[in-house]
Amino acid sequence: MSSTDKAGAGRWRWLSGGRQRRQEEVILMLLCALSIPSILPFGVYRLLQGNWASAAVDMALVAAMAAVIVHVWRTGRYKVAGLCVTIFYSAGMLATVYLRGVGLVYWVYPTMIAAYFVLRPSLALGINSVALVVLVTILSGRVEVVNLATIIVTIGLVNLFAYIFSYRTGLQNQRLHTASELDFLTGVGNRRALDRRLAEYAQERRPQPESCLLLLDLDHFKQVNDEYGHAAGDKVLVRLAEVMRRHTRSTDRIFRYGGEEFAIIASGAGLSAAGSLAEGLRAAVASAPLLEQHPITISIGLAFMDKTRTPDEWLAQADKLLYAAKQGGRNAVRVAEPS
Ligand code: GH3
Ligand code: MG
Ligand code: MG
Repeated sequence: MSSTDKAGAGRWRWLSGGRQRRQEEVILMLLCALSIPSILPFGVYRLLQGNWASAAVDMALVAAMAAVIVHVWRTGRYKVAGLCVTIFYSAGMLATVYLRGVGLVYWVYPTMIAAYFVLRPSLALGINSVALVVLVTILSGRVEVVNLATIIVTIGLVNLFAYIFSYRTGLQNQRLHTASELDFLTGVGNRRALDRRLAEYAQERRPQPESCLLLLDLDHFKQVNDEYGHAAGDKVLVRLAEVMRRHTRSTDRIFRYGGEEFAIIASGAGLSAAGSLAEGLRAAVASAPLLEQHPITISIGLAFMDKTRTPDEWLAQADKLLYAAKQGGRNAVRVAEPS
């Protein structure tokens, strides 16, 4: 990270109240913040005109947007807030058209597009469809049939385009996210994925299954590279990942910690169960033909992920035990003492 990046990140953390904010939170707060100066002048104008009902709708929207900004800023919860904003916004927009007539129908378009910024595409489409039905009910009999048909078709098209765009963007984000957390050589999770998973486990307040962290390292791997070449070494890493997948449960998560070191989060396993898992894995690697005519073994350090300590401390303990396994002659498992 460059010094400018660091300064930027610091500023961002200060702005976000000391923690990393999710993109969805920022978008929702921005949307609300932009709505206030867009609606407030109309509210003031209608107040001056003595148009109390329209002014009340505008002012209620402004107050609600301000309340949502404060709520999301303080709690970081954006899902229910996003839903409330969309429903409130849609109701306000329909009330405005009902009170002021078809001339205000232009507000429908930005309101409906905004829904796709804060909600899942299917939910935004659902809410907008209901709003459209209400809108048609309000306008039927008040505008010519051709005009009403034009409004329906244009709103339908706006929703169709927004839905497709939002759906595709969501899919792309998901793919990028998955790719950014995979190790390209072995296909297991990378260091970023490990750090995120450990942090999530440490921060989760609800009760979780007890879990252990295994740190494993290939024994004398430099020799493999020196004797057989880097490509053969890479093949060993790929095959090792396959053996790990076969000898762990579907609930366990495998990560490449770096170079020829891997980490496994054994979920729902205490020290004893995770110890058996580690021992089974060590034996499986020792007997697997990872490289022709050259035995490959691993050493494992195993720590319990207790909530009184941090992920760094779990990693440090597992690393220390891994080092002890190496010192003890390699091809071995060292498990933390139960506390
Ligand atoms: P020890 O038993 O003490 O772990 O010995 P070692 O030789 O395995 O340990 P060391 O950490 O000193 O060396 C690790 C080697 O792993 C050095 C490096 O060349 C190799 N390595 C790291 N990443 C890769 C990789 O992606 N592909 C290949 N082929 N080799 C790698
Ligand atoms: Mg090694
Ligand atoms: Mg190493």
